[in-house]
Amino acid sequence: MEHFDLLIKNATICTMDSDMSVIQHGYVAVKGSDIVKIAEGQVPEGTTASKTIDASGQVLFPGFIDTHTHIFQSFLKGLGADHRLIEWLNRSALPYGALMTPYQHRLAAQLTCMEAIRSGCTTLCEFFYTDQNPELADGCIAGMEDTGIRSVFIRTFQDRGEDYGMPACMIQPADKAMEEVSRLRETYADRGDMLSIWTGPDVTWSTSREGYETMLEYCLSENVRYAMHIDETEVDDDMCQRNYGQDIVPMLDEMGFLTDKMLGVHCVNLTSDEIRRFADHGVSVSYNPVSNMYLGSGAAPIRECLDAGVNVSVGTDGAASNNTTDYIESLKFAALIQKGFTRDAARITAPQTISMATNGGAKAVGMEARLGSIETGKRADMFLFEPRKLKSIPMHDPYATAVYSSSQENVAATIVNGKVVYQDGRFACGIDEHDLSNKIDAELAKLRTQINA
Ligand SMILES: [Zn+2]
Repeated sequence: MEHFDLLIKNATICTMDSDMSVIQHGYVAVKGSDIVKIAEGQVPEGTTASKTIDASGQVLFPGFIDTHTHIFQSFLKGLGADHRLIEWLNRSALPYGALMTPYQHRLAAQLTCMEAIRSGCTTLCEFFYTDQNPELADGCIAGMEDTGIRSVFIRTFQDRGEDYGMPACMIQPADKAMEEVSRLRETYADRGDMLSIWTGPDVTWSTSREGYETMLEYCLSENVRYAMHIDETEVDDDMCQRNYGQDIVPMLDEMGFLTDKMLGVHCVNLTSDEIRRFADHGVSVSYNPVSNMYLGSGAAPIRECLDAGVNVSVGTDGAASNNTTDYIESLKFAALIQKGFTRDAARITAPQTISMATNGGAKAVGMEARLGSIETGKRADMFLFEPRKLKSIPMHDPYATAVYSSSQENVAATIVNGKVVYQDGRFACGIDEHDLSNKIDAELAKLRTQINA
């Protein structure tokens, strides 16, 4: 007689393993944080579990991995709408980002992570750039941890950029920024793989050549991963041409900056030569389709990246340029944009889209041995998809239904590290949606008063 902590039975299981195996009717057993058994058919007689979910009629997928967001922007949905990137930043993200308190960051993190969990995400990468006060990072991390999501906290830095509107309070030399990254790594060292600390230059126009070099030396010597916004719009190359006489990707390549520890975010304007450089050095890409449409940035060359062997993941980007953290919505855009812009419906498939969201995400965060598929020995990060919703009826193929005919309503349960963090509309953290909304409204009233003063 075997006892498990969690048993999910009678499910269709899209494992997303290397063979893309699908078990039509089976069960998954979890002990502690890990998947310990996957089998076809009925659970053997006499098996017990502390918690059992009967997933009859539902599909079990590995959890999605959102490889790019800016949590504080969940306070700013719709603000600065319909403006171009730099103007949008100066109307929305930068003024509010310069004023928000640790408590406000914590509320924003709860909101962002709960929405992510309700759209099937089990891991979220926070690209944090409001660095003026170290307590803000701690507030953000506390809010992520409140919800039970697996977190990657990317404490980035800006060592220039006032000419593009970067508030002076957010600018700091790279060596000082790395001291703060070290503090975070020490403070949260006991979190294991539930919380990883990374760093990264925020964006081309906010980083000096010395800044890249200082950060790279730190990351390579300390084995720390890093991310950066790159080739989102033509501003990246314009700025680099003006200051260094070359484009950003060749410049970084010469510096030795392109490595398998790097996650390049957006990559809309990558040339075929730059895609080859990414492939040669094992750089991963975070594709942010909704944000790229919202800000009019364009369609990233995702098919070209995949064909060249570049690992591609999917991010939502901050909720001020999306304007949600609805990962399921982003997946539909992820596929449709590739088809529409190339006038080729076969350009990318639904299983390939789900693969970017799971396997691709796992590799992008350096955890492909533990995340990204439902396999024994991996972490129990999964979600249950309920296809019996008007938008999804009938389901012919779980991949196509999940990508093209679904919404957050289809997510019946989300499991992170073996724990059910969301089920049937309720969050295990106990945070109430209306209560959270009231708290955020009260804080926004204070922020508006400050900004208008
Ligand atoms: Zn971003």
